[in-house]
Amino acid sequence: MNEERIAHGAAVDGAFQVIPRAEHGVSRKRISTGALRVLYRLHESGFRACLVGGAVRDLLLGGHPKDFDVATDATPEQVRALFRNCRLIGRRFRLAHVVFGREIVEVATFRGSGDDGNGDRHLVDGRIVRDNVYGTIEEDALRRDFTINALYYDIADFSVRDAVGGMADLQRRVLRLIGDPAQRYREDPVRMLRAARFAAKLGFEIAPETAAPFADLGPLLAEAAPARLFDESLKLFMAGHGLASFRELERHGLLGHVFPETAKALAHDADGAFRRLVERTFASTDARVREDKPVTPAFLFAALLWGPACRRAQAAIDDGADAATAWQNAAARVLREQVQRVAVPRRFTLVIEEIWAMQPRFAQRTKKRVLRLLGHPRFRAAYDFLMLRADDSPELAELGAWWTQAQEATEVELSETLQALPPTVDAAVDGAPRKRPRRRRRGRRRGGAAATVADAAD
Ligand code: ATP
Ligand code: MG
Repeated sequence: MNEERIAHGAAVDGAFQVIPRAEHGVSRKRISTGALRVLYRLHESGFRACLVGGAVRDLLLGGHPKDFDVATDATPEQVRALFRNCRLIGRRFRLAHVVFGREIVEVATFRGSGDDGNGDRHLVDGRIVRDNVYGTIEEDALRRDFTINALYYDIADFSVRDAVGGMADLQRRVLRLIGDPAQRYREDPVRMLRAARFAAKLGFEIAPETAAPFADLGPLLAEAAPARLFDESLKLFMAGHGLASFRELERHGLLGHVFPETAKALAHDADGAFRRLVERTFASTDARVREDKPVTPAFLFAALLWGPACRRAQAAIDDGADAATAWQNAAARVLREQVQRVAVPRRFTLVIEEIWAMQPRFAQRTKKRVLRLLGHPRFRAAYDFLMLRADDSPELAELGAWWTQAQEATEVELSETLQALPPTVDAAVDGAPRKRPRRRRRGRRRGGAAATVADAAD
């Protein structure tokens, strides 16, 4: 099998095709100083030392790796003995972290074939076992996920070593799982999400045989650890290629296994408004990531789950519930169900609830409420969310424009614009909760920014 793939001038070493320095684009200039020091020190001490995984892939593609992983035949203890600035982490499979100022180089001993790579504990008769964790470099290559993630840059001769046809797949821009795809997904279903993520990040096509098992094995994602699915969601959606990831997940029928209610709401989205909201949110998050602006997953999840929350609330309202209660219950239920699958931490679900709860309040433009909303700690996120919704609705666009001005206005100007509003503006919009108008309690508090901030906090 390897013979066919041997490039011009390449040699073979065991299972590996060896691509000499002159024939690949990995230059030491683009490897971090920390990683180079680790590689050289290991090599000088008689160990095998290779750069591996995402760093080699990204260097070959001409990109800038965000971190550098090293693989070696030295045991973690031997690595620690070589570096003062080294700590060992992990229980079953121990890794060495070598620290250089702000850079951390992860050093892993070659893993054996018994390792399923998913980081979960391996149980035999209910006991955690640590069997056959270490192996040869060949075994280490075969237990990796995609061929393009299994390339080794060997510091001994600056060659790239390829046991799985990764170089050819890089050139063809194809993402191909190593080994039998169905078996590899059974070992670790999260690999299906990783396929979608790398396809999105690199603009690669998923090989047909690698995508084929998604339809049958997608449901296995329900068994993945919710905390891991949250981490994976961040890598899919918060790394600058969120929109592309979302499209890959949808295209391959994987979205519903991670965000079931979102997939359902998209399927019932007759006018396409929800899809446009989701896509705009991803596009704006991607733009912010590119510009190095802060982003929060709460905002993104607020958009992804907005459709489901609207659907739930509307169903309850149709059954006769009052809007405020219907909305509160819908929000709580949608979030409760979602966190069972993707463990979104409480600090984010709280913000999601606040962003949602503030949407109907934007329509309630009385002076006291306006000042209170402007002073709300989550005003900015809720306003940004309103603006994304407004892109699709002239009614909301007017409201959004008003709030854009309100943020700049002095209190006197604000009073004037409030007086100019028609009396009917205190209405619910877009299926969002309508609060029963409360009778004004006079004289309890004076309006004014200081009082309002305190107001919002209680
Ligand atoms: P990124 O640039 O997104 O970090 P990466 O390729 O470095 O991409 P990581 O998740 O950091 O991805 O993993 C590092 C390497 O470990 C991968 O390149 C791959 O070789 C291997 N790996 C990671 N997760 C798995 C998995 N679930 N199954 C098999 N191999 C894996
Ligand atoms: Mg990485």
